[in-house]
Amino acid sequence: MSAPQQLGEILRRVSVSDQDRQHRLFAITEQILTSSPQLQSADFTRVKPDDLQLIYELYDDQFFGGLIQRSFDQQRMSFRVSSRMTRAGGKTTRWGDPRRPERLRYEIAISSTLLFQSFQDPEHAVTVTGIECVNRLEGLLRVMEHELVHLAEMLVWSDSNCTLHRFQGIAQRQFGHLQHTHSLLTPRELAHREYNIRTGSQVAFVLDGRRYEGIVNRITRRATVLVPDASGEPFSDGRRYLRFYVPIAQLERLDE
Ligand SMILES: [Zn+2]
Repeated sequence: MSAPQQLGEILRRVSVSDQDRQHRLFAITEQILTSSPQLQSADFTRVKPDDLQLIYELYDDQFFGGLIQRSFDQQRMSFRVSSRMTRAGGKTTRWGDPRRPERLRYEIAISSTLLFQSFQDPEHAVTVTGIECVNRLEGLLRVMEHELVHLAEMLVWSDSNCTLHRFQGIAQRQFGHLQHTHSLLTPRELAHREYNIRTGSQVAFVLDGRRYEGIVNRITRRATVLVPDASGEPFSDGRRYLRFYVPIAQLERLDE
């Protein structure tokens, strides 16, 4: 049997007991904390693509017998830490022509924005994949586990979808996941919780000594604020607005 076929057998049939899983996770966590220059504590403040690769290799060895790495040329695997992903905790992407599997490229990306915004406030419990996480490393591992199921599914069946039964069965049997979602703090939630600002809020801000008033149109890492102005771009409501990108902390809420 080829490596992807063997991997498929594991995904379909193997169910890891809670106790077994705890032992494996303990080993993985120890390895990470002793070998990563960034992840020296469970509440690390930096993470690099190398760390994601380390986690990937440790999980593959512990849970899949190294079969993920043996399923394709590892030159075609890459890792990325993204500060621009503001809704998903992670993302697994495949590029190339599915009819030429020997050329397909894969990437696992993790959102540093979500990871670092979360786990600042002990009052705010964070669940990832339905499992409560008490520190940032746990959050990162749960996100990586989810992405590894995506990758494994892509290698075996070529498609992957975490809203479907097959994915959820694998995630549950291997990692004990109960859900395919997270409650990591998104910029949108943070804006609402900390500053009571959401889409549609009336706000004011000062830029180059001048004060502007407008409406929040969108929240990603910064808020997009639309300020009525005759020289601005036309919008669907028939009015013209100038568009500003403003850090949330610099906004003053007007309509309370
Ligand atoms: Zn997913």
